[in-house]
Amino acid sequence: MTIQSGRIGLLCAICSVMLEETNNIRKQSPIRRAIVKLDQKVANRIAAGEVIERPSAIVKELLENSIDASASKIEVFLSDGGKSLIQVKDNGWGMKKWELPLAVCRHATSKLVDNELTKVKTYGFRGEALPSIGASARLKIQSNLRDSDDSWKIFVDNGAIGNIKPSAINLGTVVEVRDLFVATPARLKFLKSDRSETQSIIDIFKKIALANPEIDFSLTDISTIDKAKLIADYKFYPKKNTNSTLVKDPLGEANSQRMKQVFGNDIFENLLPIKFSEPRMTISGYISLPTYSRSNSSHQYFFVNGRPVWDKQLLGALRASYSDFIMRGRYPVTVIFINCPPDLVDANVHPAKTEVRFHDYPSVRSSLISTIKEAIANANTKTSTAVSEKMMEAFKVSSHNQKLGSNIRWNKRTQTLSRKANSSQIHELDYQNALFSDISTKTFQDSSKELIEDSEIVGCDTDKDHDLPLGAPVAHVHQNYIIAQTSKGIIIVDQHAAHERIVYEELKTVWNKSLVTSQALLIPEIVELGEERVSVLLKFRADLDRLGVVLEPFGNKSICLRSLPAILGQVNGSMLVNDLADELLEHKDISVLEEKIEKIISKIACHGSVRSGRKLNPEEMTALLRKMEGTPYSNQCNHGRPTFVELKLTEIERLFERN
Ligand code: ADP
Ligand code: MG
Repeated sequence: MTIQSGRIGLLCAICSVMLEETNNIRKQSPIRRAIVKLDQKVANRIAAGEVIERPSAIVKELLENSIDASASKIEVFLSDGGKSLIQVKDNGWGMKKWELPLAVCRHATSKLVDNELTKVKTYGFRGEALPSIGASARLKIQSNLRDSDDSWKIFVDNGAIGNIKPSAINLGTVVEVRDLFVATPARLKFLKSDRSETQSIIDIFKKIALANPEIDFSLTDISTIDKAKLIADYKFYPKKNTNSTLVKDPLGEANSQRMKQVFGNDIFENLLPIKFSEPRMTISGYISLPTYSRSNSSHQYFFVNGRPVWDKQLLGALRASYSDFIMRGRYPVTVIFINCPPDLVDANVHPAKTEVRFHDYPSVRSSLISTIKEAIANANTKTSTAVSEKMMEAFKVSSHNQKLGSNIRWNKRTQTLSRKANSSQIHELDYQNALFSDISTKTFQDSSKELIEDSEIVGCDTDKDHDLPLGAPVAHVHQNYIIAQTSKGIIIVDQHAAHERIVYEELKTVWNKSLVTSQALLIPEIVELGEERVSVLLKFRADLDRLGVVLEPFGNKSICLRSLPAILGQVNGSMLVNDLADELLEHKDISVLEEKIEKIISKIACHGSVRSGRKLNPEEMTALLRKMEGTPYSNQCNHGRPTFVELKLTEIERLFERN
C-alpha cells in the first residue's frame, strides 16, 4: 500500500513538474528545437526520481552499499524521518581517493563483472544510487581504504560535485545525506510525516537486517540531539564470519537469532520452518501457523537471493497457500528466502530493485505452495502447543482464577466429588487428593456440580488409545468440547471446528479426483471480453474444462459459456469468466477458479459439519478423534481457528506450581 501510494505520489509530482515545463515550452515558442543531450545535472535529477522516492529508499541503498563493501557492522542515524539527516557508517573496505568522484557519477559501479547482468551477486549493480542521492540532497561521503591511512571526502550539493579533500575517518565509509529534496519543493511536498517516514525506514532496515544476520546493525533517531533514541540494535550471533555471499542458511542459528531480535522472542512458538531444495532452487525460512495471523500483509517478507522484494506474484502464491486455512482479510507472518542462480531471476526490473522476474515463475509458485501446505499439514502438535501457551497465559492472569483461588482454602481432608451416575460408561474419576476446607467447599462444590451436570463423563475403552496423538475421550462438556486423555496430558477438541475441517477435506478429495460434475447452462451465455482475454481463456481451455467450465470460441472478442461446475450452484457466469481472465492474465494459472471452488466447498463443509450443541456419544467422539488424526490440516478449521489444544502434564503441573 505504502509503496504503491508513494509511487503514485511521486508520479504525480513528476507529472506536474513535466506538465509545467511542457506548458512553459508551449507558451515560449512553437519553434522546432534540435535534439540536445540533457545536462548531466538535469539527467541525474530526472533519473533520481525513480531510485530515491523517499528517505527509506536512501537508507536501503546505503545499507546495501555497506553490505556490498563487506561491512560487519553498520550504524544508521536519522533525524526528522530522514528528511534532514540520514547517516550510514560502516566498517567495510572503503574507497580509494580516485574512486570517490566516480562513485557519485551516474552508471559508475565496481560491481558488474564482465558486463554480465545475469551474474550479479551483489545488491548494487546499476551505479545509480549515490548520483541520485547527490542530485536530490546535500551528500557527503568520507571513506578510508581498508588497512591504509588513505582517508578522503567528497561533497555533492544538489548535483554540484565538489573537490576531494582529506578526511579524518580511520575506518570504513560514512555517508551523510542532508536536507533531502530541499532543492525540489515539488518532491518535498510528497513526503509524509516524520513519523511515517521513520516507520518506513524501520521497515526496510528490518528487512535488510533479517537477510544479513551475520552483520551487526543499529538504528538511532537523533532528531532530539540531547536525547538520541536507539530504535534497533541487532547483533550477530553466535560468532563472526567473514563470508559475505548473499546466500546463507535461512534455518541456521544466526538467522533464528536475528528473527528473534527483529520480531521478539515469542515468535518461534508460532512459526514453522519450511524447506524445499532442488539443484537450481531452494526455498526456506519460516511461516506462521494459520492460527497466528495479522490484519495486514506488512509481516510477509520475501527475499530473493538475499534481496528483500515486494512482489505481487509471490504474495499471491502465499495467499493461495493459506486460502484453505485462514480467513479472508487475515495474513500469515512469513520470512521466506528463495535462492537460485542469478541467471534464473531478473533483479533489474525496477530501478529500486524491489521487484524481480523469475524466468519460470509457475514452477516457483507451485514449489512454494506445496512446501507451505506440507509444513502446515505436519504442524498438528505445534498448533496445539502454541495455542496451549496462550491458554496457560490466560490461566495465569485470569482474574476469575484469582477470585476463585481466594475463596478456596485447602486442608488435608480428602473429598470425592459428586458426579453424574447414569450409565455403565461412567468412569470413576478419582479426586482422592482434592482437599477442601469446610468454609470454602460450598462455592466450589456448587460450581463443580453445575459443570458436571453440563458434561458427559465417559469411560475410555482401551489404554492403547492414550498413546494415539489425540488420545481417548473422557468427557464431553458444554455440548461442544471433547476432553481426551493422552499419555502425556489432556486434549480439548472443539467438535464443530474439527468436523468442519474433516468434511472440507473429504469434499476436496472428491473434487480433486475429478469427480467434478459440470452443469450445462440452459441457455449458453455469450460473454464479451476483448481479444487478449479471450485468447488467454482459450489457452487454458483444457484446464478449465477439467474444472467444469466449458467454453467455446465465439468470434475474436467473445466466448460462449456452455457449462459451469455444478458445485458452484447459481453464479454469475459472466463475472466468473471475467475474474478468470483477469487472474489468468496476471498469474498465468487457474488458481482463481480453484480458490473459488475451495471457498464454496468450505461453505458447504461449514454447513454440513456437526454443529456445536449436539451431544456426541463416546463412540462418536472416538470416531471423530481418529478421523482427525487421519485428516490433513486437521489442526485448524477452514477459518484458521484451532480445532484442538493440548495441555501437557508438565504444563498442568506448572499451573499448580508442582514443579
Ligand atoms: P552500485 O551500488 O549500483 O554500484 P552506487 O551508486 O550505490 O552504485 O555506488 C557506486 C559505487 O560506489 C559502488 O559500486 C561502490 O564501488 C562504491 N561504494 C558506494 N558505497 C560504498 C561503501 N559504503 N563502501 C565502499 N564502496 C562504496
Ligand atoms: Mg548501490
